[in-house]
Amino acid sequence: MTDYKNYSNKDNNNRDNHRNNQKDNHRNQKDNHRDQKDNHRDQKDNHRNYKDNPNKNNIKKPSLCEVSKKCGGCQYIDLPYKEQLARKQRQAEKLLKKFGRVKPIIGMENPSHYRNKVHAVFDFQRGKGIVSGIYKERSHIVVPVKHCMLEDEKADQIILSIRELAKSFKIKTYNEDTGYGLLRHVLVRVGHTTGQIMVVLVLGSPILPSKKNFVSELCKLYPEITTIVINVNNKRTSMVLGDKEQVIYGKGYIEDVLCGRTFKISPKSFYQVNAVQTEALYHKAVEYAQLSGKETVVDAYCGIGTIALTAAGQAGKVIGVELNRDAVRDAVANARINQIQNADFYQNDAGRFMRQLAEAEEKVDVVFMDPPRNGSTEEFMDALLRLYPERVVYISCNPETLARDLEYLTGKGQKGKYRVMEITPVDMFPYTDNIENVCLLQRSGR
Ligand code: SAH
Repeated sequence: MTDYKNYSNKDNNNRDNHRNNQKDNHRNQKDNHRDQKDNHRDQKDNHRNYKDNPNKNNIKKPSLCEVSKKCGGCQYIDLPYKEQLARKQRQAEKLLKKFGRVKPIIGMENPSHYRNKVHAVFDFQRGKGIVSGIYKERSHIVVPVKHCMLEDEKADQIILSIRELAKSFKIKTYNEDTGYGLLRHVLVRVGHTTGQIMVVLVLGSPILPSKKNFVSELCKLYPEITTIVINVNNKRTSMVLGDKEQVIYGKGYIEDVLCGRTFKISPKSFYQVNAVQTEALYHKAVEYAQLSGKETVVDAYCGIGTIALTAAGQAGKVIGVELNRDAVRDAVANARINQIQNADFYQNDAGRFMRQLAEAEEKVDVVFMDPPRNGSTEEFMDALLRLYPERVVYISCNPETLARDLEYLTGKGQKGKYRVMEITPVDMFPYTDNIENVCLLQRSGR
């Protein structure tokens, strides 16, 4: 439980106080940053000592992250990157080798701070005041986080500043137990190539007091912010975003450039979090598709159309299907922005859409499929087997459901009529144990 009484007693709307508080807060922030730097320096020194003499005086190797135990997000935080990749390779082979050749994993040159989407939950904690951070694994306890090895550093700074601004603007954090309070989450998205930044303030109710001043203070601190959106989530739910949105600064979306195309990204649309590795992943996926310029291509679970539009130049036509309305709207806009005329996007369940294509006896040559973690469905795969495209490129962020679905599609003696030609793991999520794979399936004759 959070302590609201304490907090509201301090409520004071005096503007001068405001300004003084802010100054103090900013000073505190600077101090915090200095503390952080010192921490880092200490950590580095410890590492150096450890490296020089790992056994001497029983020096325990310090973790690269001070909250890793509580947060639990980075299972591999203290493994050298090479070893992380080796483990992922072994894991991918263990699950997938029986289907076909597993190529060496594509790793990152610089595996830190790759996440261009950063989420922080806000809370009020006794003795600490307003904190922001991450839910402790499998709980709703907030672990305060100031900086994270995975996250974009600018995004982390913005979130810390919002903590301070929330204090000086007397904005209360939302209490999940009572449903009182306002500020629930902050989401920051950074365009990897464009540098455009979107800040989404997730509130328990639609009114942000002193909205204009809040926006101008935040933009003064970070002129890189190009848009700020309020998202209203008044439900007792573990979903971060609610339905309603209000743009309070800028256009309400950001743009980023990926594989030479420009993409519009709305707050609720899915966009891969690691841009560097996404380019490597898409490159491999398009290579696997072996397009000649004539094919009809389906991009299933297409998000904002990134794969479809990356492949469009090498295909006859591309058809994208996606459940999320905002993402489909973005995909349509993205085709226009990139002057791509041979792409159509549909808002539908991918399984139902594929069944409709099969019933209409459409001719499809290549299917890209990139389902969420729980994998695809039998409805989807049955329709795929009826449509029977020459090649299927399956992109997966969960090797277990990928193995299950490959079993179905290659199903010896049963319905499955595909052969796995090659699988390439791509390290989209360094420091964590998640493995992304891209897999080429070739039809093997009826
Ligand atoms: N290929 C895209 C998106 C992959 S994430 C990219 O690389 O960016 C998976 C996507 O599947 C999400 O956009 C999600 O909204 C969508 N999705 C989830 N369930 C779906 C379903 N049943 N039918 C269609 N799309 C679905």
